[in-house]
Parts: sequence; C-alpha cells; structure tokens
Amino acid sequence: MASTFEFQQTVGKTASLSGTSLHTGEKVSLKLQPAPVDHGIKFKRKDLQDEPTIDARIDNLKTVERATTIGEGPMRVHTVEHVLAALSAMGVDNAIVEMDANEPPIGDGSAQPYVDLIKKAGMTVQEEPRKFFDVREPMYVESKTGALLVLLPDEKFRISCTQAGPNNRFTQYLSMEVTAAAFEREIAPARRHKVLDIIGDLALVGRRIRGHVVAAKPGHSANADLARAVAREQTRRSALSVTRAVPRGDSGFDTDEVMQILPHRFPFLMVDRIISFEGETKCIGIKTVTINEPFFQGHFPGHPVMPGVMQVEAMAQVASILLFKLAKTTSRIGYFMSADGVKFRKPVLPGDTIFIHAELTKSRGERLAKAKCHCVVNDAVVSEGELMFTFVDK
Ligand SMILES: [Zn+2]
Repeated sequence: MASTFEFQQTVGKTASLSGTSLHTGEKVSLKLQPAPVDHGIKFKRKDLQDEPTIDARIDNLKTVERATTIGEGPMRVHTVEHVLAALSAMGVDNAIVEMDANEPPIGDGSAQPYVDLIKKAGMTVQEEPRKFFDVREPMYVESKTGALLVLLPDEKFRISCTQAGPNNRFTQYLSMEVTAAAFEREIAPARRHKVLDIIGDLALVGRRIRGHVVAAKPGHSANADLARAVAREQTRRSALSVTRAVPRGDSGFDTDEVMQILPHRFPFLMVDRIISFEGETKCIGIKTVTINEPFFQGHFPGHPVMPGVMQVEAMAQVASILLFKLAKTTSRIGYFMSADGVKFRKPVLPGDTIFIHAELTKSRGERLAKAKCHCVVNDAVVSEGELMFTFVDK
C-alpha cells in the first residue's frame, strides 16, 4: 500500500454474466455496473416493475437460512453473499448489481465466476477515501448451534476459521489476510465455503473492517449477528461524535473566539472550539480529526494514527485557554514547560472527535500553573497527562 489512505473504487465498465439460478433453475443474467462514491453496493431487480434497487446493508437482511437474503417490502434478493464477498475482497466499494431474477446465477457454487466478472469489468479509483470500521475492543457473538465469532483489533482484515464436520470430525483450519490476491488464490475457486460466507455477510456492514475475525463453526446466522453488532457499534460511534459536538452557546468559545486567544493556526490549531467551561478552572474542548490532517501522510503511510505528541499539544492549547481566561490579560504569554505522567492508551484515528478535558490544579503565584488533562474518544480515555506552564511578560 503506497498511499497514505485508500480510495474508494468502482468497476471500470459494465460487464455481464449469465447462468442458472439455484432455486428456480431459470436462466439469470447479472450485470455489474459502475456507481458513484459513497453509493455502496446495491442490487437492482430489472425483472420487476419500476426496477427497484436495494442496498446491500445489514438493515435489509431478511433471512439467513442456507443463504443470505435481503429485501425491502415484498421485494427479495436471495443468495447475495458470494457476489458481495467477491466485490468486497476484490476491492469494489461502489457498484450496481443488476439482475433479471431474484437470485444471482449460482455457477459451480464458488465465487470464481464473480471474480472473473469483476476482472472483466476492471477497476476505477474514485476521489473519496474509503470508510473503515476499526475494531477497538474485542467483540464476539455466539449461537446456540455452537458458532462462535470473535472480532479482534488488527491493522488488516484477517480471518482465521475453524470448521468442523458432523460430530466435530474432519476439522479444517484456515487463517489469512483478506486481500484480492489471497481471495483469488485461496477462496474464490474453492468450496471452502465458510470463509467466503463470512466475507460476504460482513460486507453488509457497508464499511471495510480492519480487524481479525476468529471464527469457530461459523454460519450465516452468526455472521449476520456479528455484522449487526459492528453496524450498531458504528452507529454508536457516529452518534457520539455528532450529538456531543453540538452543544454551543454562551458557555463555550467558537472557533473565532479560540483563534482570538490562541496564536496557533492550521495545521497546528489543535482545538476546534470549547464546548463548556465549569467554573474558572475546568473546560472541555473538541477537535475533529480528519484524514486531511497533514501528519497522517507520514504517520503512518497506509495506516493513519494521530501522533501522541499532537494530543499533548491539544491538551496544552485547551489548558492555555483556561489560563488566558484566568489571567484576563494578554500582556503575558504562557509557555508550555513540561509534561508529566503522559500516557497514550488508545489510538486516535481519522474521523474521531476528541474531547479534550483540562483542569487547572495549581496556579502558584503569578508565574507557574499546572493543568491535569485527558483526551476522550468514544467515551474512552485515549491519552492523559499533567502539564506545567510558566508566564513571561510579552
Ligand atoms: Zn456460501
């Protein structure tokens, strides 16, 4: 991966495939078409009136018996998981899958025909960055049938799968990083089917997962439960960064006010605004971290993580605002002298909103001040430290 972050992709041109549907035995043709950024994968039923389309999203999941079926109203699309697995693993983020039946052509039961189709259509890189779901805490789902899926933090999308036959005999194990090459080589041609189904079912999340799926005896139902859990966690994260960022009013400082106090400017202004003050000694600032922050380009190529020192800088800037309010004068300038007990607990990633808490603990005489600070993302402390400042006349 040479670029700082990955861009969304769609297919280069329309390509089609025909075959027989598994359930009805009828002839089906499937057309893969390019789609714009943030479109995701949608299925289109060309054979129905008004040619309805449906998002390949977990919210639209209808049944998981034997195969994965999505639907909306009376419309259904059956057995979507192999097409979705191939699109996801081969790197297609946006596409329309148009069909003239309720099910894709099944071929030989493998994903090979879809891989061939995607290669025939080619790939186009688009202008928006990909959306990822980064696993931060282990998650798991378990089913009564004995399926267990654990999702662990990882920089890559990996699957380790143990599959057992009747009475737990004929155990098979496979562990791989899901890349286009590995998918083409190991998954698409085989009926080692369980990994294929996991990739396809998790594609219903609508974001690329960076995490390690450890699966024992998986099935569509457990896969769908995990996809649902991931989607729920994503919704929770989005809600946290939106609603918490909203409070505005007399109690805070907007960006203009912040910039009247702090001399820092882009890209070194590390606080967007102050959302609340508590008395004279406490406040909370926020900073929305976007992929456009210059430091992501080198920290690290292909794996953007906000440098810890930039979080300390954010703490220092928020603490400076408290000091300024306290001094109510611009005749002196505060210098950041030292930081004690600094800990970086969790990675901060593009898309995160950081809540920067600062509290003045000591202001000794006119010359020294101490502030206890911590940064919070998604309700978890990501970093903390105690900062010391000194004042000098301008
Ligand atoms: Zn399958």
